[in-house]
Amino acid sequence: MSPVNGGATRDRLRIAIQKSGRLSEPARALLASCGLSWRESRDKLFCYGETLPVDLLLVRDDDIPGLLADGVCDYGIVGRNVLDEVGADRALRGLPQVSKAVRGLGFGGCRLDIAIPESTEWTGPAQLQGSRIATSYPGLLQQWLDGQGVQATIVNLSGSVEIAPRLGQADFICDLVSSGATLTANQLKPAVTLMTSEAVLAGPITPFADVRGELASLLLRRLDGVLRLRDSRLVMFQARRDGVDALLKLLPDAEAPTLLQVDGSDRVALQVLCHGEMTWPRLEALKQAGAAGVMVLPVERMLA
Ligand code: ATP
Ligand code: ZN
Repeated sequence: MSPVNGGATRDRLRIAIQKSGRLSEPARALLASCGLSWRESRDKLFCYGETLPVDLLLVRDDDIPGLLADGVCDYGIVGRNVLDEVGADRALRGLPQVSKAVRGLGFGGCRLDIAIPESTEWTGPAQLQGSRIATSYPGLLQQWLDGQGVQATIVNLSGSVEIAPRLGQADFICDLVSSGATLTANQLKPAVTLMTSEAVLAGPITPFADVRGELASLLLRRLDGVLRLRDSRLVMFQARRDGVDALLKLLPDAEAPTLLQVDGSDRVALQVLCHGEMTWPRLEALKQAGAAGVMVLPVERMLA
């Protein structure tokens, strides 16, 4: 196992992911679907890559931007919100930004919202003037308030932000929201969105000069394939040949279809790879436009 050695040359790639939390399982699953597997260490902080020389560091998500900046890890899977908070904090302190290449991964979706008590009517950002706002995202909140020309006191809390108004610590909160259930449970409602976020893979802008360069491009290529197929489905149906154009208009996210003549009829069988989600309303629209026997199949793997 290679020692933790900052930005020095290494022959293994190291990816930091959240140890336990919302992003840990989906991050592992995504990397596993790229063909990676690991041997767990006893302290469960470092997982040694078995199929490829790609190791995992299991850490708190807040530590990932720093580990990347220091070169302790090469890539990190973290919420865009966490990276942007570090960026906002550095900007407010007049420090230079640490540039990273970032790729959205399609999970961990959420918004950073200002939320207000359910009984309060939202009249606009000016309403926040002179108030106290509890948050774990003081940098992003301060930047947004500055942009709105609003002065407010930021109450910096590391957790349980949503109960701050009930405890009298703050008037409003600025927190991550996904379903909104936590807000409702605390008699709060969303008022304004500061940013939308998802989990991202953050990594270097310039390729590695050592053996990690090849490993990284192999991994990124596999990741691209996995992400491209994630919502992809093989859609199969039959239709009259003269109805095909209208049907394909309903599938703008489809790759070039395969058409097969159905023996002894004016009907064709179509096979189409669609990249968007195939919802029930989409299937119903196909049926209405003349598609028969519509089948939607998952795509396990694809090599273009
Ligand atoms: P850690 O112990 O690693 O610091 P944490 O409590 O900061 O954990 P989680 O609550 O697991 O982290 O959230 C991790 C990330 O999940 C967030 O930074 C955000 O990007 C994403 N996320 C998605 N939905 C939500 C949500 N409703 N609340 C909080 N985070 C969310
Ligand atoms: Zn955290």
